Amino acid sequence: MSSMFPHWYRDMSDQTTQNDPLAGGCYCGAVRFEVVEPAIGQGQCHCRACQHIAGGAPQYFLLVPKDGLHWSGKGCATFKKPDLEDAVTRYFCPDCGTHIATRRPDQSAWVLKVGTLDDPSDFAPRFAICYAQAQPFHMVPDGIPVFDDIPNRA
Ligand SMILES: [Zn+2]
Ligand SMILES: [Zn+2]
Repeated sequence: MSSMFPHWYRDMSDQTTQNDPLAGGCYCGAVRFEVVEPAIGQGQCHCRACQHIAGGAPQYFLLVPKDGLHWSGKGCATFKKPDLEDAVTRYFCPDCGTHIATRRPDQSAWVLKVGTLDDPSDFAPRFAICYAQAQPFHMVPDGIPVFDDIPNRA
């Protein structure tokens, strides 16, 4: 179960939750959330699914513990790609369609999309994953570890 979270995710102290609770929501405001526990990781993913969702860019995310996200407002709609084994469950606003978070079947943490925070400006990615699927125009900050896939997944 912990295989999704190699130790270096947890070793990274998270500076984005210093002004707890972080709050955010979808584009139209119908779905709202608060992040009430420190994130256990923060990074960027270059996979093709994230490119679809993020407009071609890598997707920037916080890993938030299972009980660390308090929802309010309208309930999220969900989607699971039916042709994928172990598909993630995607949570999005039923009105405006903003993709807010995902959850893998084999982990309890939320993968929270940074763009849904009211103030994403404190975010800095600490690692990049799925870089084998990156596009030539993707950018990675200097000095962070870059992984071709999702490390320690097996
Ligand atoms: Zn919305
Ligand atoms: Zn991805």
